[in-house]
Amino acid sequence: MKRTKIVATLGPASTAIEVIEELIKAGVNVCRINFSHGSYDNVLTQINNVRAINHKLRTHVAILADLQGPKLRIGVVENNGVELIVGNEIIITTKECIGTAQKVYITYPQFPKDVKAGENILIDDGKLLLKVIETNGVDEVKSVVVYGGILSSKKGVNLPNTKVSLPCLTEKDLNDLDFALEHNVEWIGLSFVRSVTDIVDLKAIIRKKNKTARVIAKIEKPEALEGIDNIIDMSDGIMVARGDLGVELPMEQVPLVQKMLVKKCLIASTPVIIATQMMESMITNFAPTRAEVNDVANAVLDGADAVMLSGETSVGKYPVKVIEAMSRIITNVESEEGIYYKGHEPFLKNQTFVADSICYNACVMAKQADVKAIVTMTNSGYTAFKLASQRPQASIFIFTDNHSLLTTLNLLWGVQGFYYDKYESTDQTISETLQILKEKGLVKEDDLVINIASMPMKERGRTNMLKLSQIK
Ligand code: PEP
Repeated sequence: MKRTKIVATLGPASTAIEVIEELIKAGVNVCRINFSHGSYDNVLTQINNVRAINHKLRTHVAILADLQGPKLRIGVVENNGVELIVGNEIIITTKECIGTAQKVYITYPQFPKDVKAGENILIDDGKLLLKVIETNGVDEVKSVVVYGGILSSKKGVNLPNTKVSLPCLTEKDLNDLDFALEHNVEWIGLSFVRSVTDIVDLKAIIRKKNKTARVIAKIEKPEALEGIDNIIDMSDGIMVARGDLGVELPMEQVPLVQKMLVKKCLIASTPVIIATQMMESMITNFAPTRAEVNDVANAVLDGADAVMLSGETSVGKYPVKVIEAMSRIITNVESEEGIYYKGHEPFLKNQTFVADSICYNACVMAKQADVKAIVTMTNSGYTAFKLASQRPQASIFIFTDNHSLLTTLNLLWGVQGFYYDKYESTDQTISETLQILKEKGLVKEDDLVINIASMPMKERGRTNMLKLSQIK
């Protein structure tokens, strides 16, 4: 079993149930649905297909609904592409029109109010660069082309120097969120998070609708980095969204930002996904470049919970081969002992200190005694987050009577979940869960294992006991 998880974006290349089944068999743990593209009919087919395969294969593949957020775009351009020449002026207007090399529409009504002279406008993932000359503060901004090229319809716009006053959840996002929650997806990704209040607001909506979906903050704006500690604390997961991040920041800063975010997430027990261009060349080629192999390997070495694929699995020619190649890279790197036991001590002043200390010490003991597995029951998933963040080499086996939680936890590094619904006594639970693992061949006679649990079992409280034993 590989420990680092794979998130694969579904799209035209991977909507068919047969393809999704192959992806899951090859190592996909979470299917991402990008709400920037595709109709609700398509999304529903994808959700139903993932769930049908979970049922068939008895897997717990989770669904991540990725909301577009305030992504800025230009409008339709004549002939589906015009050339912008360096030094020429171009007007950016908030009045809808067919774009030309002299004037182009932007989907951001407050743009002329928010932008200032001298600020940069990056288009098409930073391939084109304009600089603002002046704004009329109402509906037009005059700019000059600094790096030119072909401008085609509906390309994304990044404004790294501008304080964008759009809300984090647009009207489209609110509709998409309704749809995703109605279909009980396990994870919601929020794009272009700028502050912790974006996460608080999204969580309030989810709570109001009586849903349990967890929230992933996509880190792709410099403002998010300013308040990153609070964002990590409040989010259930973090995505290092390197595509937009590398446009909003000088791209040479992204590698160290990635390492900083993974380190902070490990300490906070917040799962972290490394995203974008990991196996980009496999959109068209049947094998990755050596640099891509190194990129995936480095994410695993850093300690990411998951690595993510976008175009490679959604529109690429080789969706299954990509997952097979990625799984092989992960498995190879995970044979290196140095990636395990990224221990961080619990804080005595935390209200959760007892459970945190049990999880931490279970991992310390596991390392000391070469324990094969740490086994636990969970109601909220808390112990799974805590154990996973210590990155033990011992397997992490989580039992719960909550099907949706089992699926949610599938994103977490190393976590393998099982359904179990008896809460009779600690003795009975320990003995039965170990028997289940033995029958599945996941532990064997004489293996040392650690069970952690909450006593008394029936109260379903926080974890407070640890038992080290040998499989009989
Ligand atoms: C990214 O920018 O890296 C990213 C994952 O976001 P999206 O694919 O939604 O643009």
